[in-house]
Amino acid sequence: MNQTRKILSLFIVIVCLTVWPMLTRSQYDSSALLKSWNQPQKPFQIIGNIYYVGTTNLGCYLIKTNAGLILLDTALEESAPLVRANIEALGFKLKDIKIMLSSHAHFDHTAGHAAMKAATGAKVYALKEDTPILESGGQQGFHPIKPFYPPVKVDKQLRDGEVVRLGDVAMTALHTPGHTEGNTAWTMKVTENGKSYNVVFTASLSINPGVKMVNNPTWAGVAEAYAQSFAKLKALPCDVFLGPHTQFFSMADKLKRLGTQPNPFIDPPGLQAFVASNEKAYHEQIQRERKEALTK
Ligand SMILES: [Zn+2]
Repeated sequence: MNQTRKILSLFIVIVCLTVWPMLTRSQYDSSALLKSWNQPQKPFQIIGNIYYVGTTNLGCYLIKTNAGLILLDTALEESAPLVRANIEALGFKLKDIKIMLSSHAHFDHTAGHAAMKAATGAKVYALKEDTPILESGGQQGFHPIKPFYPPVKVDKQLRDGEVVRLGDVAMTALHTPGHTEGNTAWTMKVTENGKSYNVVFTASLSINPGVKMVNNPTWAGVAEAYAQSFAKLKALPCDVFLGPHTQFFSMADKLKRLGTQPNPFIDPPGLQAFVASNEKAYHEQIQRERKEALTK
């Protein structure tokens, strides 16, 4: 009996050490992918009053106004020291950050929010649809994605089309739901060499692994939400296209040409091409899901 109990205990310990971590690990945890996303990137002025302060892959943007700074996205929790150092390397002060925004409430864009808010005293603004996700550190929402992150209190909940003003800068929140409920494109005007340009900071438009477009059990209207978001983005005037992952707008390539005229970040077809490739993948997934349903 004693021997059986010993064997049973040993069995439980083995299960805990091997199977349980596999069950709780997300597709992202412990992957080389996150490390590659979090490589240091030298900060730089993109155009006018818009500065890049993110990592090689994870876009974080600092917008200078005459009444302080706006920070859009904070990347991973582990990115916090890199983002802070980038802001200071450009000669800005953390305490001048007054407002923090986000593209969408996934760990790779907002996990650094809580620490940055504590360090700066900035107010966090977000669309109301992403607020429960931010305030639960990623645990709420129709499709929670691990790793979860330190929850952050949203000071002001915004609605679609609402304008955020700080000093001489106005940024408009455009609700583009699908990837998350409150997925947000931010638009603003920027001036360089006496010319004004329309800037669009898109959010993510991909469909996360495991998310169904047909008969989604937790968000029945998700496919329709994506369709409306694609249409909204296609109708936007855009000269400068930026986003939460740098490959969306070929940052590495544009950065190589920075300093030449015209500014390589002025890329009017960029947003359209990005939306078109995501829309194509979306239609392909719907077709695939419909086919699979028929063969079942
Ligand atoms: Zn995401």
